[in-house]
Amino acid sequence: MTVPLRTRFAPSPTGSLHVGGVRTALYCRLVARQTGGRFLLRIEDTDRARSTEEAASGIVADLRWLGLTWDEGPDAPSACGPFFQSQRLERYDEVLRSLLASGHAYEAWEDAAELAAMRQAAEAAGDALRYRRRQVSAAQVEAWKAEGRRPVVRLAAPNKDVTHDDVILGPVTVEAAQLDDFVLRKADGFPTYHFAVVVDDHDMGIDLVLRGQEHLMNTHKHLQIYEALGWTPPRAGHLPLIFNPTGTKMSKRDKARVAREAVRAKAAASSHGKDLAWLAELTGLPVAELAAFMAKTNDGVATATLIAQRLNVALPLIEVADFRMQGFLPEAIVNMMALLGFGTEDGREVLSQEELAEVFDLRRVNLTAARFDETKARWMNGQWMVRLSPDALAKHFEAWCALTDSPFARWTADRRTRLLENYKARASTFAELAVAARAYLVAPDSWDEAALRKHLGIEGRQALSAVRAALGDLEDDAPATVSATVAAVAERLGLGLGKVAQPLRVAFMGVPVSPPIEETYALLGREEALSRIDRLLAHLG
Ligand code: GLU
Repeated sequence: MTVPLRTRFAPSPTGSLHVGGVRTALYCRLVARQTGGRFLLRIEDTDRARSTEEAASGIVADLRWLGLTWDEGPDAPSACGPFFQSQRLERYDEVLRSLLASGHAYEAWEDAAELAAMRQAAEAAGDALRYRRRQVSAAQVEAWKAEGRRPVVRLAAPNKDVTHDDVILGPVTVEAAQLDDFVLRKADGFPTYHFAVVVDDHDMGIDLVLRGQEHLMNTHKHLQIYEALGWTPPRAGHLPLIFNPTGTKMSKRDKARVAREAVRAKAAASSHGKDLAWLAELTGLPVAELAAFMAKTNDGVATATLIAQRLNVALPLIEVADFRMQGFLPEAIVNMMALLGFGTEDGREVLSQEELAEVFDLRRVNLTAARFDETKARWMNGQWMVRLSPDALAKHFEAWCALTDSPFARWTADRRTRLLENYKARASTFAELAVAARAYLVAPDSWDEAALRKHLGIEGRQALSAVRAALGDLEDDAPATVSATVAAVAERLGLGLGKVAQPLRVAFMGVPVSPPIEETYALLGREEALSRIDRLLAHLG
């Protein structure tokens, strides 16, 4: 019998949702669904300097857009809420008081400078700082208090090895010498991630924690807190890291790296040397900020994005927002992330969440890093462009047009649906589709020379004039009427259909390639279609 499992996704709102988080949220949701359990969303906003409400609402919106909805969490209240850690501070204090009372935690008074000195000393001796309780006199504590110092609270960690039996990786042991008395509550009164995560996972009845492998060593710390509290820990599983194509961990920093490379390439090509005045002028950013960015003291995504725009280079796709702006479909993003770390037994690759729920198996999650491949991602999206129902696709396209302020936003819904039906198999994303369909927005400013020679000799011109007249006379220009009219003109002139259709295509698009004539005509609209024919006829004289 399957035991219903409660799982959770617990993002820190310090930036926008990384695609790696999509995979974590998805796997958690799949497991809950497969076992008849519940999937929770919890916002871990205890890092006051780095968390923002804007990031939190962005993450919530991205998850909803992806269809990774939760059973309990923001806007889905339950008895174990609230689901923002910043609203749970009293509970952390209560648990902390019990740890202090039982002697499993203690106050420590070192300030940043003292800790830095301790760290340096440890490093000089060839080790990282492993903080252990130090004896301080009551008088000293009084003096620090008088100075206005505020203590942190640390766990009195038992000095012993900790073994964690990972559901994906198997048993992992960390030796006592690698552990220390880490901080549970910071001097600002806020709990650390380690402490809050334990209290919440316990209070929310979480049975299984899935998260990225970068958290593996944290799990051992958490186990020490569970032990101190006498609580049963949830099982935990750590998902393989996701690498970018260059073999390093896929991170928001990749954007800064690519932007820096572009700046260097531009500087080298135009003998700017190290002077950044040109870049300041181009971006409107202060030279000092740019210098910090180039010196890697600042990896600002906003700076990288602005530089990339001005230098016209594409930044890597890292955050869900990047994929969204490029016109990826949520179904495709979820699908591609599912396969970064897991493969189906029968090799099937294009799977909806429902289908994934049938085949997903935690025991088959890979142990080693996965590599994100943008070409594959685009292929996957192309598959979803044709797999989705026309209605569903049209809804996504409408939203994308609004998001990117695309001129297609001003088209009618019917016309957009027609565009999709004609172009969805020719483009792998909405951004590509919009480029392919630009000719409907802007008339060609010239016509392909070879096409003019081939299709618009004497016979072609005659055909174009004849079809112009016939189309101009139409009162009803439904696609069926338009195609019958073109066919009738061809027949009347004793020409094959292509001899009439190709000159029309050149007139419409500037090149002899387009969807079927009646579709192209409908997409342009009568007025624009006829005017394009007139322009070409005038050009041919
Ligand atoms: N807030 C942590 C993060 O975003 C969550 C880690 C966990 O799942 O415990 O990395």
